[in-house]
Amino acid sequence: MVSYYLKLITIGDVGDVVEEVKEAAKCMNLNVVSMLRASAPSNAFDSVRQQYLADRLLEHIARLYRESLNEVLLLVADVDAYVHGLNFVFGIALPYLGAAAVFLPRLRYFADQDRFRRRIRKEVLHELGHVFGLEHCMTPGCVMNFSNSVFDVDAKMDAFCHRCVKMLQRSGVKVDVRCILSL
Ligand SMILES: [Zn+2]
Ligand SMILES: [Zn+2]
Repeated sequence: MVSYYLKLITIGDVGDVVEEVKEAAKCMNLNVVSMLRASAPSNAFDSVRQQYLADRLLEHIARLYRESLNEVLLLVADVDAYVHGLNFVFGIALPYLGAAAVFLPRLRYFADQDRFRRRIRKEVLHELGHVFGLEHCMTPGCVMNFSNSVFDVDAKMDAFCHRCVKMLQRSGVKVDVRCILSL
């Protein structure tokens, strides 16, 4: 069985979110083996929208920093980002590059530090789920529910439903029991 590990890349002042990332990674039995600071490439910045193009940004970082097929690269960036067709995204995953990103500014809306941290944990889990092949899930409370707003993020749990857990297992990911939705 392949054993995956996680490399954390940060952009901007991400404070102490590292702890949240570690917690989320633990859910999926991923060790955080290294952390690096990077800077955002200017060619991913849309000066009209004043936002980064999420997929271009993540692709750039993944191609620069991802070193092996067992490595899952997670970018946590304190920049606002979007993809074509959406005003913004909380995060994005590029499974073919083994990479995911979470963008912090909009997760701060209407949140104290505790809520902000819970949102980060959920979004990291969600995007890592995509990296391992999960699609959006309709099971109430499952962390793979699609989130259109911070209220959607708050409404879901930081746990996978049983169906998502099974699919993760098929991809070689063992989910910690604490991160499985209880019925
Ligand atoms: Zn998603
Ligand atoms: Zn699910």
